[in-house]
Amino acid sequence: SALVEFDGVSKRYADGTRALDELKLSMPRAQFCVVLGPSGAGKSTLLRMLNGLTRPDEGDIRFDGVTLTTARLRQQRSRIGSIHQHYGLVGRLSVLDNVLCGLLPRMGLLRSMTGAFSDEQRRRACRALADAGLDENQLYRRADELSGGQQQRVGIARALMCDPQLILADEPVASLDPRISRDILGLLRNTVHEQGVAVLCTLHQVELALEFADRIVGLRLGRVVFDGVPSEFDAAA
Ligand code: ADP
Ligand code: ADP
Repeated sequence: SALVEFDGVSKRYADGTRALDELKLSMPRAQFCVVLGPSGAGKSTLLRMLNGLTRPDEGDIRFDGVTLTTARLRQQRSRIGSIHQHYGLVGRLSVLDNVLCGLLPRMGLLRSMTGAFSDEQRRRACRALADAGLDENQLYRRADELSGGQQQRVGIARALMCDPQLILADEPVASLDPRISRDILGLLRNTVHEQGVAVLCTLHQVELALEFADRIVGLRLGRVVFDGVPSEFDAAA
């Protein structure tokens, strides 16, 4: 069955803006799906709904076969990781501590408040960082001392700590130069294909989507105007 399903989802903001218009979209597991569209197309609204930050006015969103509801959101969100344009790290914490923070949504409140991570959890965080291409001698550096590309690698390692079924990537390379952007998108694509996690990623550069996506969803004014593989997108363009 699909991992994510949007079924007739509409969202109109208080000022009347129609951000999503009866959106229908089904996403399987282990797919690198890129959402492309001009500013205002509804891309962030789409991602925010899976985060629980915005609720649909109409329609149904299912995650792993179960309708997303406010009541179930905490549990469902624990299997959804996120990465962000500005990385979202805690700058004065170490790289390793930032990655350990990725475990918090799956830990009990009391244990997370004591901040006591087990040796096994630390080993896992180190492995996740190594898999993300971070050098061992970076582990104890402050996160804000790293370059943007390195910070995004830390963000990816942190997102993977919750054993996600889905990673939401909101403009993950918008602040990076083209070469580093390709490194990061390559890492995300490998993560999808090696670990079976699905990635839903917004981009605004068509050429990067063509190069890395398994599937492109073109969004315009809250509607899907293209849905297919990159080679078809090329032909349509
Ligand atoms: P994108 O991420 O593709 O730029 P958004 O989802 O941010 O698109 O926005 C879609 C539309 O909804 C835009 O017209 C935007 O101005 C509007 N919008 C987004 N968030 C809000 C909000 N909280 N209140 C009112 N309008 C909003
Ligand atoms: P809800 O899902 O509870 O309706 P919204 O996602 O619509 O919440 O956002 C809550 C409020 O944030 C909106 O009513 C709006 O006033 C404000 N807001 C956030 N982003 C924008 C934006 N880009 N333009 C206008 N208002 C915004």
